Amino acid sequence: MPTVRAYAVDDPAAQFHPTTIERREPGANEIFIAVKYCGICHSDIHNARSEWRPGNYPMVPGHEMVGEVTAVGADVTRFKVGDRAGVGCYVWSCGECELCRTDRQQFCAKAVYTYNAIDRDGSVTQGGYSQGITVAEDYAVHVPESIPYEAAAPILCAGVTLYSPLKRWGTGPGKRVAIVGMGGLGHMGVQIAAKMGAEVIVLSQSLSKRDDGIKLGASDYYAMSDPERLQELAASIDLMIVTVSAELDLDLLMSLVKPGGALVDVGLPTEPASIRMRSLTFGNKAMAGSQIGGMQELQEIVDFCAEHKIAPVVEVISADEITEAYDKVVASKVRYRYVIDTATM
Ligand code: NAP
Ligand code: ZN
Repeated sequence: MPTVRAYAVDDPAAQFHPTTIERREPGANEIFIAVKYCGICHSDIHNARSEWRPGNYPMVPGHEMVGEVTAVGADVTRFKVGDRAGVGCYVWSCGECELCRTDRQQFCAKAVYTYNAIDRDGSVTQGGYSQGITVAEDYAVHVPESIPYEAAAPILCAGVTLYSPLKRWGTGPGKRVAIVGMGGLGHMGVQIAAKMGAEVIVLSQSLSKRDDGIKLGASDYYAMSDPERLQELAASIDLMIVTVSAELDLDLLMSLVKPGGALVDVGLPTEPASIRMRSLTFGNKAMAGSQIGGMQELQEIVDFCAEHKIAPVVEVISADEITEAYDKVVASKVRYRYVIDTATM
């Protein structure tokens, strides 16, 4: 069994330390990817700190990994040794149910998430803060040469999490899309929605990231701390995607959505949210959620980023900086995704 270096936490205090983990020899339909870079998603922090549910420790987080295929099983057809590949938020699903057949594998009752989950053999899955992973070929995507490895990593979760609802809710020319929160997810949403042809507006806590937002494709940028100016947007947004995990004034945000428009949450606040039903009823507005994306969507957004030269803005860090990086992400200090160089493990 391949033994690989990794970084793990042992409890919700989430202090990272070096370790080694065992990976399976690739089975007939599996590949081994030598992971080169892995993004730090805010969900990693929620998991490592047991903020959503008690975590399975020791835990190696990471679901935005990219690297090189170094071994393939006998029946693998989609990858060969030397290919560039990426793995996102889940590593298995049944492949047969209605959800799997309609590219919504993330909701399959048998789906196995990339880390902090129970695998089919009863072991706990371990993620991409490691130098390698064995995965069934159907749960890996191809990463085109034109995207540097480190820039490709955030597409595997942040990219698809924004792409899926933007596509589902009809983003395109003539549509005004608001992205709430300019973090890892949000900065991908701005770029993707702009390349889809929509007019993009960012709603942020302050105007401190305004120049970056405009550079990435937004036409305007608003501070939520300035509700008066926000009124310029009243009833004008076709689609609002909320990427913030903190409590927000949803009635205020919904008042900016056009009649017939929608607010889609991807930010997963830990506390229950509150909204007056009349904020939805008056204007036939919809409120929905969206969770990552299907495997086909994942390949689509990687290819879309390559085609449209979308570049996630990343800060590459070494493995011994992960603990500190978590605090900086929580303090909104990252510009805009930390990506771990696994060569530093
Ligand atoms: P992130 O990089 O920390 O970005 C979140 C952004 O939210 C921050 O950059 C900040 O933007 C804004 N924000 C933070 N605290 C705020 C507050 N108190 N009030 C208002 N705005 C605040 O995190 P991320 O990786 O993008 O993830 C965001 C959330 O989405 C996390 O909860 C994560 O678990 C979740 N997530 C969900 C999915 C899914 O499938 N639905 C997938 C991945 C992640 P500004 O500085 O612009 O205000
Ligand atoms: Zn994520």
